[in-house]
Amino acid sequence: MTTIEFFGGLGVIGSSKIVIAHGDARVQLDMGLDIPNGEDLMAAPVGLGSRPGRELADLLRIGAAPRVPGLYDPRWLPSDVASDELTTDAAGEHALFISHGHLDHMGLAGFVRPAVPVYATPQTIALLRALQLSGEPVLGAEPDWLPIEPGAPVTVGDLTVEALPVDHDVVGACGFLVTTPDGRIAFTGDLRFHGEEARLSRDFIAAVAGVDVLITEGTTLSWEPLPAPVAESDAVARFHATLDEARGLVLVALYPRNTLRAGAFVEAARAAGRRLVWPGRIAALFARLGWEDVVTWDASRPQASDHREAIARAEGDGLRFSTVSIDAVRADPGRFVVMPDPHDLPSLLDLPLGPGDVLLHSNGQPLGDFDTWWRPFIAWLGQLGVELRSAGSGGHASADDLHAMVEQIAPRVVFPIHTFSPRRLQVPAGTRRVIAEYGVKYRLAEL
Ligand SMILES: [Zn+2]
Repeated sequence: MTTIEFFGGLGVIGSSKIVIAHGDARVQLDMGLDIPNGEDLMAAPVGLGSRPGRELADLLRIGAAPRVPGLYDPRWLPSDVASDELTTDAAGEHALFISHGHLDHMGLAGFVRPAVPVYATPQTIALLRALQLSGEPVLGAEPDWLPIEPGAPVTVGDLTVEALPVDHDVVGACGFLVTTPDGRIAFTGDLRFHGEEARLSRDFIAAVAGVDVLITEGTTLSWEPLPAPVAESDAVARFHATLDEARGLVLVALYPRNTLRAGAFVEAARAAGRRLVWPGRIAALFARLGWEDVVTWDASRPQASDHREAIARAEGDGLRFSTVSIDAVRADPGRFVVMPDPHDLPSLLDLPLGPGDVLLHSNGQPLGDFDTWWRPFIAWLGQLGVELRSAGSGGHASADDLHAMVEQIAPRVVFPIHTFSPRRLQVPAGTRRVIAEYGVKYRLAEL
């Protein structure tokens, strides 16, 4: 008997965790950070992992980590949170599969007991390793990542898991196809159809067409009216347009894990005769991912210690950077684009900024008005007279694209997750929509 159980992602965006079990075999898809009751108690200024040794325990206490039986390494379970259910060393084969390198899909992967192998695509592993080494470690202990190559399924007991690449706003994203003795289950991970690699998402549809169960993300169903998606190419085009009209320094706020867009911005800046200067930690990340000629600050511009340390560690590992002095930027601001450190706002005062200058916000931090850093960020830009301009592109399929996808896949059953509004997913005749609940083991054969 194959069962499907959800330990996160219901009625919320993010925190996906799906356990598919057959006999002693158990496959878990994703291990994202939970957001408890819609309010993130660990948001700044509190901070994740602020109490060493209690990183997982505190999350369990506030309901921000799921109580998945037998999953966690007991060393993260002090006595006040350890229960028989959590610490039971369940028999059988278990494995965890991570769809992509976003915190709401992998943020708790560092707490899994070492006997549970943790799989991700080679690109995702490369990204997460580079983040680990450049000062953005996974919470807990870095898992011993195992690669799952598209086209090379992994067997866990009677279950077979195949990674299917999809387009999302981070490299290496994939969905999964789980083949069980009772039928086939597909999980989208996060995906979109308006990015540069949309063909991957279309290939995903073709590969899973006719599955018994589709578990789909439904992020964009959350809002009414539903926002029209901005294409990835439009985000880059808006950056080009800003560079064309700007005279002075241009600031950008990019999300570093979206390395494809970051690379496109570097190219756009170069085409406009400018160099894009990264904070040290971000420069170290890109250098570790194999980028050539990554530009960061030299010692003339004081940076927060995490940036200096990331650069020093990377140089210690033999990586080299191009550096720029603060005087060079002050002397000729029109030859540069700068990504500021959003958590070191006074450092904006180092830069030659004033009325008429622009910060192009392209899905970087602070992420939006729900982010506690947003208000001070806006206030600082306002004080300096810098105009905030938006040039983002989301990572999630539009409602229309989701509906077309479900129609083409035509599953017997669809579970919409990773959305505030799963009931907004419309399904074609012949497909049954199930709004999943916690604590229920859905039997595949009886769905
Ligand atoms: Zn994502």
